[in-house]
Amino acid sequence: MFMQTVFRTFLILVFCQIASGSVALSAPSSVIVENIRHHVHKTYTRVVLDLSGRVGIKETKSQRQVTISLSNVQLSQKAQRALKRKNFPRAVAVSQGRSHTVVLTLKKEAIRTYSLTTFQKPNRVAVDLYYKKDSPATVTTPSPAPQRALKPEPPVTKPKLADRPGRKAVTVVLDPGHGGKDPGAVGRKGTREKTITLQIAKHLRDLLRKRLHVKVLLTRSKDMFRDLEHRVDFANKKKADLFLSIHVNSHPKKSIQGIEIYHFGKASDPRALTVAARENGMKLEDDAPPWQFIIADKLNDQKIEGSRNFAWTARTRLVTALHKDYTVKDHGVKTAPFYVLRFTTMPSILAEVGFLSNPGEEKRLRNETFQKKLAQGIYEGIQAYLKSLRPSAS
Ligand SMILES: [Zn+2]
Repeated sequence: MFMQTVFRTFLILVFCQIASGSVALSAPSSVIVENIRHHVHKTYTRVVLDLSGRVGIKETKSQRQVTISLSNVQLSQKAQRALKRKNFPRAVAVSQGRSHTVVLTLKKEAIRTYSLTTFQKPNRVAVDLYYKKDSPATVTTPSPAPQRALKPEPPVTKPKLADRPGRKAVTVVLDPGHGGKDPGAVGRKGTREKTITLQIAKHLRDLLRKRLHVKVLLTRSKDMFRDLEHRVDFANKKKADLFLSIHVNSHPKKSIQGIEIYHFGKASDPRALTVAARENGMKLEDDAPPWQFIIADKLNDQKIEGSRNFAWTARTRLVTALHKDYTVKDHGVKTAPFYVLRFTTMPSILAEVGFLSNPGEEKRLRNETFQKKLAQGIYEGIQAYLKSLRPSAS
């Protein structure tokens, strides 16, 4: 209840300033804005600047506009061409300012609110624009395949699967963390998180397909890099009913072990924040400004409620299943501002299925029997959650 009230009431603007905390060296070589992209989502439009390095950011607000200045930056030809495209959102103007500054001007007449996020690996800045209703800026918004699916809109306002006439299959998106150039956590024996998450996701996919006959999609099915935006876009575009991100934890103290299940929210404890920072690809530095910004006002009650229920069900089933054969430390359900949980529009959770920094857990996470047991436990959680959405008569 508490979190729900918080979500509805406040605009939690936690600003990821890790990148902006970087200070330009005395003889700076400019960072290049390699490209500028925009993505139209149901409730907001995201403008992304792909950068060749880290930049300093300054925000200034006046009555009419918000100005975001990136210092020591130059627009590439490609970025300049992107700005000239007809469908580029009119609510934001991007220009090359004086002395290697790139300036984004957000017009307050068009936008209700916005959020600014910086990312590393690869470096980029994302600005999410939440338009005012009937704003002329929204006319630039193309509607991507609006009538493609039977799903009523908005997607997450229908928690009961049985309430969806004509809806054939439930779609579950599994998100194996990391991949490609991003190994995730690495154990003492060299076990890489990206390998374990993919193996578990595949076991889980097979179980779900075989036994529940649901549609299962993976955000990656091989060892490849996928950024977080891509993972979120994928789940949203596929109109998934559930999103589950699989990760493996790490801690400086090797004795720490166990399982924890997350849904989106303010960090429930300091360690939850460090876990989210790592999974979001950010550094949590003591001397940095408050780093994490996530606007939570747009999360609707259905998603919050759905994610919370999904998290509790998955955690209970998973821990129960494992306890039959293994000793497992249960850290319970937690909340933290994970990017993939925030920006997916359906009930979504993130499972940290063990600690690669713990030698015992590293060993068993490599073991296929244990991986299958994990998949089995999560499968039972998904099954129980989906069942809870159906009327008891069925
Ligand atoms: Zn991870």
